[in-house]
Amino acid sequence: MARFTLPRDLYHGKGSLEELKNLTGSKAIVVVGGGSMKRFGFLDRAVSYLKEAGMDVQLFENVEPDPSVETVMKGAKMMQEFGPDWIVAMGGGSPIDAAKAMWAFYEYPETTFEDLITPFSFPTLRTKARFCAIPSTSGTATEVTAFSVITDYNKGIKYPLADFNITPDVAIVDPDLAETMPKKLTAHTGMDAMTHAIEAYVSTLHCDYTDPLALHAIKMIHNDLKKSYDGDMDARDRMHNAQCLAGMAFSNALLGIVHSMAHKTGAAYSGGHIVHGCANAMYLPGVIQYNAKNEEAALRYAEIADFIGLDGASTEEKVAALVAEIKAMNDMLDIPKCIKDYEGGIIDEKEFMDKLPAVAELAIGDACTGSNPRIPTQDEMEKLLKACYYGEDINF
Ligand code: FE
Repeated sequence: MARFTLPRDLYHGKGSLEELKNLTGSKAIVVVGGGSMKRFGFLDRAVSYLKEAGMDVQLFENVEPDPSVETVMKGAKMMQEFGPDWIVAMGGGSPIDAAKAMWAFYEYPETTFEDLITPFSFPTLRTKARFCAIPSTSGTATEVTAFSVITDYNKGIKYPLADFNITPDVAIVDPDLAETMPKKLTAHTGMDAMTHAIEAYVSTLHCDYTDPLALHAIKMIHNDLKKSYDGDMDARDRMHNAQCLAGMAFSNALLGIVHSMAHKTGAAYSGGHIVHGCANAMYLPGVIQYNAKNEEAALRYAEIADFIGLDGASTEEKVAALVAEIKAMNDMLDIPKCIKDYEGGIIDEKEFMDKLPAVAELAIGDACTGSNPRIPTQDEMEKLLKACYYGEDINF
């Protein structure tokens, strides 16, 4: 038995934000990030649509990137006092992720993060509120997924929450919001979405329901990401849908070790964070080479290559063509080839090598490793990470 879960309603297309007018309820809390939604006028519009729907509205503003346990608890407390029957989360991945966790603590004030981190063990939500998610970036697709990541800065731990209870009820995928993204964010979030779709397609949990979503997302991202990066707003609009399709696929098929490696290298080094989408983009070619030693995975990568019209007579040639194509996309998007070149070399070589065994062990233990087509040994994971540091091809 397997389960496939998506939001009940998904509104998409330019101007779809207006659908907030048609939510039925009496009180809504709007959870937003640091200010771009306010600056561009989307927050005001959302609030006035909700008021038009006859609701009292409160705001929870300034959710930080990589939202903290404290922010989640503050928001949950505000919800307990206000008693909303709609939680409307708007912005990049962070405010939506934070609001998902707030939702759980609003409905179950006595629960703890430790209770929630066991995957798919959430208590039943929707006893107090329903959830509407409105993304402003085109990458995480948290508006349609069962996932949220919350950081405990005191303990230095990231809590990856996973449960279909936190899959939103309503997603509003309005491309007007994504048109505000700066260029670099467009590249990084776009390659994050590409990684979601490719990892979902080769995941051991992929199925007939996730495959078409993943393949179509890959084709769209392949066609439109570069154009979107260059400022073509029609392509930007299509990318907003493409990332959402990728999200529908990976929320149900899960991911693989590109994400395991990105999660564990992201905040491991003193020189600075390696941005999630950029890390995925850099690691994806090598991981494809590694996974393709698994015959079944190789066939699926070859299917992807066929689907996007790459050349190649044999499975091997098609896999190589896909790897080359991802590298070419990265080049066009000004994404560095390897960790060594990241942001002018901020990740120190010696520190990287010193931490290699520990980071590799953590990456193997990451929640995304279990659905990867090949499970790496400690030695293999260290070699993979090292190859990603220097930008070398993988042939083991
Ligand atoms: Fe991701």
